[in-house]
Amino acid sequence: MERGREGEGRLIFTVTDLKQYSYCPRIVFYTYCLPLIRPTTGKMEEGRLAHKEARDRERRRTLRIYGLEEAERHFDVWVVSEVLGLSGRIDLVLEVTREASGAFREWIPVDYKQTGRRAGPHLRRQLAAYGMMLEETWGGVVRRGFLYSLLTRRVEEILLTPALRQEVRETVAAMREMVERERMPDPPPSRRPCVTCEFRRFCNDVG
Ligand code: SF4
Repeated sequence: MERGREGEGRLIFTVTDLKQYSYCPRIVFYTYCLPLIRPTTGKMEEGRLAHKEARDRERRRTLRIYGLEEAERHFDVWVVSEVLGLSGRIDLVLEVTREASGAFREWIPVDYKQTGRRAGPHLRRQLAAYGMMLEETWGGVVRRGFLYSLLTRRVEEILLTPALRQEVRETVAAMREMVERERMPDPPPSRRPCVTCEFRRFCNDVG
């Protein structure tokens, strides 16, 4: 299920929306309330190419970077949560099983990020959302996820704590309210995100 509305009219957001809302809520407002102004840039294509290269490298390397001996890799896993009203595609899901018995142990979502910095709230929420959707789509409990930096090739483990899960639910609820009321939010307190923002020419109040 992709971005859009279900039969009864409920909006289904994408995990990208969730990430962008944490970066600047106005981007999600533009996407849903003024969809015709969405700019097209080379950034998305660059991102797609970087992810494809990462997948190719992933297939060739061992799992040691994740601290694992063995796991099955599932690439580009589509997930959806009817509960959250959210859908998305996970770069990679590691399926870890006990070697001896083959019994299921855990799913671990992995998201490739294009920054070398430690994960901010937007990336943590995105990963937690993937985990929550995975639980609903595939069953079981997801305890953690990994963020893999395409720049440093390092991995950061993120625990799906109750507090982080609550942040995801609250963020989706806030997005839903904003879009349903068609209320344009204020720009973020720091103007730093505006510097490279694709929507900048539509925001006359950010200088
Ligand atoms: S230019 Fe700034 S305020 Fe406008 S959408 Fe982008 S980040 Fe948000």
